[in-house]
Amino acid sequence: MRFGTLWTPRSTNRKTGDIPTCFIGRTRKESLKSCLGCPLLHVKDGGEAESGKPMCNAQYGTQSFGHKAHIRKYAAQVEEAEAAGEEIVDIMSLERALEARAYSAKYVRLAALGEPSKLSYRVLKEIIDTTRGSGLGFLGYTHFWADYGDTRKGRLLRQNFMASCNSLDEIDEALSQGWNATAIVEPGHPGGFQRTPEGSPAILCPHALDDRVQCNQCGLCDPQKNPGTAILFWDMGSTAQGKRRKLREQQQVA
Ligand code: SF4
Repeated sequence: MRFGTLWTPRSTNRKTGDIPTCFIGRTRKESLKSCLGCPLLHVKDGGEAESGKPMCNAQYGTQSFGHKAHIRKYAAQVEEAEAAGEEIVDIMSLERALEARAYSAKYVRLAALGEPSKLSYRVLKEIIDTTRGSGLGFLGYTHFWADYGDTRKGRLLRQNFMASCNSLDEIDEALSQGWNATAIVEPGHPGGFQRTPEGSPAILCPHALDDRVQCNQCGLCDPQKNPGTAILFWDMGSTAQGKRRKLREQQQVA
């Protein structure tokens, strides 16, 4: 199956900052299909997540509302062009997003939702070359980091994406294969980093404790700028909310 992309030049996402952002899938169904095989997908969509288990914050959170709005905008544009008998100009292409980006943008994000590794090698290479060729950094995550081995696509992904891991053990495995890696952990490690079982330092995403820190300034998740880095994210599920609040308060007092 071929997966389409919808790019927006600006973002109101408080974590990333105002940077060009891609949504994978030109329909919700297409986007959810790109994630097939990821355990964070809900059981009703073919995944393993259900109440009480970690679930994808993007596909089932506010990003999915943004995606729906972009889908409507894109569909309306296509309909209008077809009704007028005009050529369809893709208003949601990467090129357009880069042209209309905020002056302050230093990165692009692939993707706010959907699985980027399901894009073809040619499409991914074009996106990465265009982005980096414009002098911007690249922020992307893939759950399917182990699937492509040392193929040309595997190497392209490894050089530009973070491996989304399910545990600290998996982070060790990804690091040993040359990936930068992330994992979601229970809130409980204020401030600094913790060690993986193999002893590698894994840094808590700085946004977790200070929401004034945005990806657009931080950039720790760009493997080309910070090779060999492991980042931890706090579980954003509702059951972890109380712990997160408490840790932020402790941090502010200290
Ligand atoms: S570590 Fe930095 S770049 Fe990565 S998600 Fe956190 S704020 Fe963004």
